[in-house]
Amino acid sequence: MLKIINYINGALTAPVSGQYIPNFEPATGDIYSYCADSDERDVELAHRAARDAFANWSCTAPEKRMHLLMRIADGIEKRAEEFIAAESKDNGKPLKLARAVDIPRAVSNFRFYAAAAQHFASESHEMPGIGINYTLRKPIGVVGCISPWNLPIYLLSWKVAPALAAGNCVVAKPSEITPHTAYLLAQVCIDAGLPDGVLNIVQGTGAKAGQAIVEHEGIKAISFTGGTETGRRIASAAAPMFKKVSLEMGGKNPTIVFADCDLEETVKQAVTASFSNQGEICLCGSRIFVEKSIYDKFREAFTERVKALKVGDPNDEDTQIGAVVSAQHKEKILSYIRLAQEEGGRILCGGAEWSTDQRSDRVKNGYFILPTVIEGLHVNCRTQQEEIFGPVVTLTPFDTEEEALTMANSVRYGLSASVWTNNLKRAHRMADKIEAGIIWVNSWLVRDLRTPFGGMKASGMGREGGWEAMRFFTEPKNVFIKY
Ligand code: NAD
Repeated sequence: MLKIINYINGALTAPVSGQYIPNFEPATGDIYSYCADSDERDVELAHRAARDAFANWSCTAPEKRMHLLMRIADGIEKRAEEFIAAESKDNGKPLKLARAVDIPRAVSNFRFYAAAAQHFASESHEMPGIGINYTLRKPIGVVGCISPWNLPIYLLSWKVAPALAAGNCVVAKPSEITPHTAYLLAQVCIDAGLPDGVLNIVQGTGAKAGQAIVEHEGIKAISFTGGTETGRRIASAAAPMFKKVSLEMGGKNPTIVFADCDLEETVKQAVTASFSNQGEICLCGSRIFVEKSIYDKFREAFTERVKALKVGDPNDEDTQIGAVVSAQHKEKILSYIRLAQEEGGRILCGGAEWSTDQRSDRVKNGYFILPTVIEGLHVNCRTQQEEIFGPVVTLTPFDTEEEALTMANSVRYGLSASVWTNNLKRAHRMADKIEAGIIWVNSWLVRDLRTPFGGMKASGMGREGGWEAMRFFTEPKNVFIKY
């Protein structure tokens, strides 16, 4: 059976402990590979390799860094079908989604930051008659990149690419639940001729490998994406060492629908925003607020569309909803559906596992949950306040713009929001007042890689994307020269 091992100092390397964790295929519930169960010893080896590589890599001409990152992008593209199959098998997402989103985006991330390596520039500020300041942007050194399971290679590459482009060496740790595409990336980097030690990928759990990265004195910055509680632990471990930290964390994003929206388009997009990737995208709109005058109409149209979503084997080309990522996560989602009922919610559709009677033999034991719509819940109840991160959304009516805004801002999270209206002034007012790092008007998940990406409140600290990431991964140093 496949053994997913580390990538340290340019070579594929077994974990020092010799221990492995079983890796499950969510669609079948079967173990299909084993992932290295690395610990602080592997992190130490990775750190040493990265530290030794840094002297050369930090002085490598931006043009050469650009070429190498382009070669990595080309390498992923050349093996795209392998990456697509691995991502779908590991995560449970439909093959079609991995083909349309995850893998092309990983390629784009490397290309985007390959270009950034060449274009990133520093500033100078003249003091007329006195002198001139110029600001150097130096790579930090060895940095840690820790990523989650929902968009495995998409989010790992979103961190690794800017870190390398800026001249750092990296110790990366993908999620132990979805390690496969990072292992393929390691192979691509070897083939691309990335110098040894510039990127190291340590596979394993958060508690062992992740924690060892965060606690390592020689790893100077941590870029993390994952849950808010993990982010809190990372922030508190990193603070006493004065590590630079960027945290992209959970969300409970509002979809706000006004009566003056284009109803048909809004319903269609709201379904996509709710259930893409089984609702396992931090940006999914899980709380839908609808103006009372169109609430019944919206509910009917929305529920009808949700019922028509095709739950199925991720390998089938017509599947729209695949498996959720693990047995444990499935139980968590089902427990929230029970909680919603205890809190007085009415299930409009879904609310259960996909019936085994309707499944093919291959996926009989997989982790599937029907897309679920719930109404009748108070905005302050736990179902409406806590991140479920699955195919579950709530519908809530509102009377006024102010009420919609209060509801939208009533959670501790502040990642993204989408607003659906044809009233331009209202769109601007809402965009101004919603407490979130990313606002979409009459759209959802439209991404320009140059824009700042991230959340406020318990959703994030710092921003990724564009120059934001290049700035995070560099240390500014100001030099003043007297005339
Ligand atoms: P998680 O926090 O459990 O794990 C994320 C990563 O952190 C994994 O690689 C894990 O092994 C590692 N980790 C766990 N404990 C650690 C520790 N003590 N020290 C260092 N590393 C540790 O999150 P998850 O369950 O993999 O992902 C789901 C969460 O990620 C959701 O909350 C979702 O909203 C969030 N997410 C946020 C964004 C964003 O951009 N804001 C994007 C995707 C996912």
